[in-house]
Amino acid sequence: MAFDIDEYLVKPGDKVDLSGIDTRSTPFWDPDDKEEGKAHLPDLQQRMESLQELLWAEGRNRVLVVLQAMDAGGKDGTIRHVFEGVNPSGVRVAAFKRPSEKELSHDYLWRVHQEVPGDGELVVFNRSHYEDVLVVRVEELVDEERWRRRFRHIVEFERMLADEGTTIVKIYLHISKDEQKERLQARLDEPNKNWKFETGDLVPRAKWKQYQQAFEDVLSETSTEFAPWYVIPADRKWYRNLAVSEILIQTLDGLDMAYPPPEEGLDQVVID
Ligand code: AMP
Ligand code: MG
Repeated sequence: MAFDIDEYLVKPGDKVDLSGIDTRSTPFWDPDDKEEGKAHLPDLQQRMESLQELLWAEGRNRVLVVLQAMDAGGKDGTIRHVFEGVNPSGVRVAAFKRPSEKELSHDYLWRVHQEVPGDGELVVFNRSHYEDVLVVRVEELVDEERWRRRFRHIVEFERMLADEGTTIVKIYLHISKDEQKERLQARLDEPNKNWKFETGDLVPRAKWKQYQQAFEDVLSETSTEFAPWYVIPADRKWYRNLAVSEILIQTLDGLDMAYPPPEEGLDQVVID
């Protein structure tokens, strides 16, 4: 079935109500056909691979993918699956952790700007400048007057990147509180997943509602023509992988890229 990515788009100006978006929904795939859904992913990975090669070969566009979610929301898994097989030369993942002392001694966009993609590059932000209006807001790391102003900075920062040639796609992986519990529990129960468990993750979990509110404001305030947000139902990992792949493929397709023209006279070249 054709995936209509607009289904997930937050239209600029829309007020998002996350409680009204079913985290298990699979509008473009029959949920009973999970195995077929999984088996379809390699086709998308291959298209992703060729589009990314074209992006790199052409060297004209810059692509920024922002990924945000609650803990265990599937950011790492999405990156692993969606970009499986792409040429590592042209793709980079930038993960934003708790800021260092040096980072904290600058404005919050300082560390972010350094990681944006250059010509031909695709960069995935695993967390991003949005943490500065999410965790920073909920944990009250700065006062409200200060974080509120950041919506405006962020929109203008992204406008500048877009004006200068960056295509921006922002994806929020929407999981339910129950699904998070299952995933965190699996990190406790399965020895090879223990390394992923952080007791610190229970703190944001306890403030689930406040985080959902903060995400709703982010989605409502910062989805623009030039840097749109997409909300992906992400309880079902296989569907999430298909949906995120489709969004990136359709976005890259829309760039109308072409391989650079070959050198003149290649047809005369004889290699002895
Ligand atoms: P993880 O993604 O599991 O490696 O965790 C990264 C942690 O860094 C999360 O708890 C984030 O909330 C935190 N973090 C990221 N950016 C910021 C920020 N700007 N201020 C405070 N904490 C942050
Ligand atoms: Mg974590």
